[in-house]
Amino acid sequence: MREINIEELCIKYPLIHELKQLKNVFWENEKYLKHNTNDGLQFTDVIDAQKRLERFEPYIQLAFPETANVNGKIESEIVEIANMKMLIERSRGQQIPGKLMLKCDHELPISGSIKARGGIYEVLKHAETLALNNGLLQMNDNYAKMHDESFRTFYSQYKIAVGSTGNLGLSIGIMGAKLGFNVTVHMSSDAKEWKKALLREKGVTVIEYETDYSKAVEEGRKQAELDPMCHFVDDENSKDLFVGYAVSALRVTDQLNQLNIKVDQEHPLFVYLPCGVGGGPGGVAYGLKQVYGENVHIFFAEPIQSPCMLLGMMTELHAEISVQNIGLTNKTEADGLAVGRASSFVGKLMESILSGCYTVDDRFLFRSLKGMYEQESIFMEPSAHAGVYGPIILFNEGTNYLEKHNLVDQLEQSTHLVWSTGGSMVPKEQRQLYLTTEL
Ligand SMILES: *Cc1c(COP(=O)(O)O)cnc(C)c1O
Repeated sequence: MREINIEELCIKYPLIHELKQLKNVFWENEKYLKHNTNDGLQFTDVIDAQKRLERFEPYIQLAFPETANVNGKIESEIVEIANMKMLIERSRGQQIPGKLMLKCDHELPISGSIKARGGIYEVLKHAETLALNNGLLQMNDNYAKMHDESFRTFYSQYKIAVGSTGNLGLSIGIMGAKLGFNVTVHMSSDAKEWKKALLREKGVTVIEYETDYSKAVEEGRKQAELDPMCHFVDDENSKDLFVGYAVSALRVTDQLNQLNIKVDQEHPLFVYLPCGVGGGPGGVAYGLKQVYGENVHIFFAEPIQSPCMLLGMMTELHAEISVQNIGLTNKTEADGLAVGRASSFVGKLMESILSGCYTVDDRFLFRSLKGMYEQESIFMEPSAHAGVYGPIILFNEGTNYLEKHNLVDQLEQSTHLVWSTGGSMVPKEQRQLYLTTEL
């Protein structure tokens, strides 16, 4: 690791002062569309992942009967949130030109968060590889056979481990346990009690840490390395997780087409994604950029105390710098985003793809949570509301970006897609608590 000289960094990147002052900041990525770090990733990997998920649909339908009506496809809707848009415009005294849409990953089947994409995908891929290598499965079989007890017995010899702030653990735990794996989830201190309890109910081993997410991942990785029968789902580095998330882009294209929403030079698409370590939003961004090129403009959203991706990308130090290095606490009610050190694999890959990052205060998250519930009858967990702040900051601190990329005249025909990332599994009492929280 390089020595970090904070004073020097602050001079070179004055935005650090504003981060330290806990302001909501907008950071424009100067390397957008310039660099091209590929990092061994091919778009064919994403197509491959999509096909793999399709092979698993007959199994998923059987293992999770609630997915029978969608034929075992793990996908969420895109809906217009016009009432929420009016509320924002009214309360901020500011117009938001274009349509405001919500990608409802809080409703993804099986685990109710964006982690149902990458997390479940990686478990399925691992299960498939083991079964193929041991002659239990052929790729052209009907994967419904994996629901047999014999498969559960086979997988019970194997272990899966993961470090998580909560939702990744839920996804890996639910899917892994269903297949028959022995799953251990290393949970950071931010993880909610109900998530740990739910996992234990499903037979998952939950190990709790007093420290934050990075430590939970590190410990999980260390313990898994000692055991050849254990597969570690590495949230900081996994390409499988990443491509699982990226499949969403192929689905979004179909969905927007069906909604008659155009994306081209005259109809720009703005996408706002809550960001923790970066894998989820990074995968989605990678996929969307492949599909829509320069007509999609993607922004990551982070809590004011946890701007790890902004900090890592801006300073180009990526995982070598943490938010604690600049005096932030990494304490936030947005538990899914409580990450102090970003994935460097994702950060580097985002250099040419990401338009920018912004930070948002917890107070906004709770006001948005309440507003969304009242206006649209949609419940999303606090983390998921980080995206809602996107259009607001873009039309204030971010107007330079709009001018620079000649977007000003296209705004009326534009679409803002707020990516909701979690919430449908939150128990009733916890929901009530969130809905009555005022910061
Ligand atoms: C994990 C998570 C994110 C962000 O995903 P990362 O891969 O950690 O960047 C966003 N929202 C919620 C609710 C999450 O659980």
